[in-house]
Amino acid sequence: MDSLKGEEKHVTNLVNPLQQESTLPIPVGVLGFGGLGQAAVKVLAPKRQMQWVAAADQKGFALNPEGLDLQTAIATYQTQGSLGYLDPEGTLSTHSIADLIQRSQGVAGFFLALPNLPNTFMASVAQQFIDLGWQGVLIDAIKRTSAVEQLVGLRAELAEAGITYVTGCGATPGLLTAAAALAAQSYAEIHQVKITFGVGIANWEAYRATIREDIAHLPNYDVATAKAMTDKEVVALLDQTQGILSLEDMEHADDVILEMAGICGRDRVTVGGVVDTRNPQKPLSTNVQITGRTFEGKISTHTFTLGDETSMAANVCGPAFGYLKSAIALHQQGIYGLLTSAQVMPHFVS
Ligand code: NAD
Repeated sequence: MDSLKGEEKHVTNLVNPLQQESTLPIPVGVLGFGGLGQAAVKVLAPKRQMQWVAAADQKGFALNPEGLDLQTAIATYQTQGSLGYLDPEGTLSTHSIADLIQRSQGVAGFFLALPNLPNTFMASVAQQFIDLGWQGVLIDAIKRTSAVEQLVGLRAELAEAGITYVTGCGATPGLLTAAAALAAQSYAEIHQVKITFGVGIANWEAYRATIREDIAHLPNYDVATAKAMTDKEVVALLDQTQGILSLEDMEHADDVILEMAGICGRDRVTVGGVVDTRNPQKPLSTNVQITGRTFEGKISTHTFTLGDETSMAANVCGPAFGYLKSAIALHQQGIYGLLTSAQVMPHFVS
């Protein structure tokens, strides 16, 4: 009887404090206030467990420990080009990220909805959080393998700084990578993970960084050439393709993330897709196929397909905050360092 009581106590200790109804929402921030950053705060608006209190864009930042107003913030950003113009919470700055970090001791975690242009940018932002002595949780929706590898290189420094960083928490990498990690459990050996995405957006200007980073995967382009393209040049390229970008064998971090989770070698993971920049309808259904051999020797394929009505923004920002929540629980238990979307199960933010 006594030992049973002991077990019950143990189980109770494992309950995540965030799952319990708390009167105080967790203060969180968003870096980058473009397509994904704005969608992120819309996703957050009806949530009770988290409150949006901080954000930065290229020209400024805004902070209010009592919460920022979504409508005013988006209107200000869209009409004046920066959250720095928000009155009274905004500040214009050419070092908006560093300035915000220095004032963000009370912010539990940030979703980094920033462009990774150049390819070293996200790692340099993580380095700023470390250098400025900030402690908390960071989540990104980064895409390239080489970019995730740079963050892996910061693992020890992040751990020492008291930061819990979960990388690759968007849709791909993110939701689909995590689905692959889960589906892999049916198999004794994983033969192939094939991610195929379809993205439909009404106009490319709503997601400039996303589209530039996708262009960087086209034959004869790389990150530097895509970053250097003017908006006019992007429009001219999209005119040639009727607004469609067809992408194959992309350098996508789903591979390194699944490898780090021990699921399969990175050479068994492929990512490709079609982006329509002139139509919010998806050109094809986003899916991940996981092929493997069961312990009985059968070869089979699991397929996880996202609903066509779900947008890129929904499939990136939902998981991002889910991972932010689980990372906050890990941080509260003193678990710091670098983790990936295939190593942690996202929690649901209510
Ligand atoms: P965007 O171009 O719409 O917005 C970028 C924002 O970042 C802007 O607010 C800009 O002002 C800000 N910014 C740029 N440089 C800055 C700086 N130095 N300091 C502070 N702020 C800065 O970008 P987006 O289309 O929303 O994409 C954001 C990122 O999300 C991209 O890296 C993209 O690849 C990634 N993404 C990931 C997935 C996924 O499934 N993993 C899906 C879509 C997009």
